[in-house]
Amino acid sequence: MHEAALERLAGLREAGLFSGRFYAERLISADGSDPLTSYERFRRTPFMTKDQIRHASVEERTATAPEDVYGVFSSSGTTGRRTMYVYSRNDKNVHERFVRTFLTEIGVTARDLGAVMAPIGTGVMAHTMMWEFTTMGAGYVNCPEPSPENMLETVEDVPVSVVATRPDVVSAACYRPELRERFAASGVRLLLLGGGFLTEGRRALLERVWGARCYSLFGMSEVFGPMAAECQRRDGLHYLDDYLLIEVLDPLSHEPVGDGEVGVAVYTTLWDKGFPLLRYWTDDYVSVTHEPCDCGLDLPRMRFFGRRADGLFPSPRHRDQPIVFPKQIEETLFSHGLVGEYLCDLYSGSLVVRSERCDLAEADPRAAGAELSELCALPVSVKLVDPGTLGVCAGSRRIRNGGW
Ligand SMILES: [Zn+2]
Repeated sequence: MHEAALERLAGLREAGLFSGRFYAERLISADGSDPLTSYERFRRTPFMTKDQIRHASVEERTATAPEDVYGVFSSSGTTGRRTMYVYSRNDKNVHERFVRTFLTEIGVTARDLGAVMAPIGTGVMAHTMMWEFTTMGAGYVNCPEPSPENMLETVEDVPVSVVATRPDVVSAACYRPELRERFAASGVRLLLLGGGFLTEGRRALLERVWGARCYSLFGMSEVFGPMAAECQRRDGLHYLDDYLLIEVLDPLSHEPVGDGEVGVAVYTTLWDKGFPLLRYWTDDYVSVTHEPCDCGLDLPRMRFFGRRADGLFPSPRHRDQPIVFPKQIEETLFSHGLVGEYLCDLYSGSLVVRSERCDLAEADPRAAGAELSELCALPVSVKLVDPGTLGVCAGSRRIRNGGW
């Protein structure tokens, strides 16, 4: 199991990739055996955690020579303090390989004009989105404050054909009835959505309002932004397994789960990376399947369910095992026509969902509540409220566990 990946790691170790202080103890086993000779041995390598990364300096985490540094970027800071990462020239090459594989598959060409609808800071997302377009030979325009008005202005003023952003950002267009026709009349034909999850319900809503086909990308700053993407079949996210080893482990026993089963993702990067990941425990709940895909790409597929920190837990004492992820709640709400902005609050063992009325679907809050009660094994009440009253904005957390 994973022989090719271990062989690659051994070569990288030989080349000095793990010479930084952060890695010093990681590839030495207690009994003196070489952990890269079998998966059984490799599995004993301690996990790398986000906390350890935060407490190590940028220098300790890289073996990249100054002349090979492409840039230093920070994480989005969604789960705490920002962390800085060195990106090497080689990371840029691997990113380009990823982009060519997937953006060619979904039909992005040099004739496209991309719009990056994300704040332009030192964060990874905006930069890698710009690189996606330039790698494909396409031009791009930035919309760093993507309010519905600014997005509309961007796609009306210039012939934008592809938009890269987060699902919640482009969703704001759906909730402005007076602007919808103009969004639909724009030349945007593809929405590339990363950062957060994309439910099938939201995908359908976005495709209807934008008149564009939606694809989901999955990534994290620790890698280089996108690392998995949908093909035209849109049945899971393919990733380049030559470059990324994803172990899917049972959250409690840490035993690998079967093909297609859900567990916690542990990532190991397999190239000469600026900041190598070695058994990085992320708290991402995913499944990985090696079943062939109808698109013909000979690459495994992952599905992303959610992060442990964002999950709903059965009680404050059981915080290891999330029972339901926000993605499942949103899918249920949308399937019952509750397609507006929403907020869910967990108060002493019951869930209160408030959903803003939206004229794009026939809402059935009672049916949604019944299905959610069953899904969450909790009493759930679903209420419709007037548009604009929840004050939800792009990037807000919609499921709040705070009421215990
Ligand atoms: Zn496929």
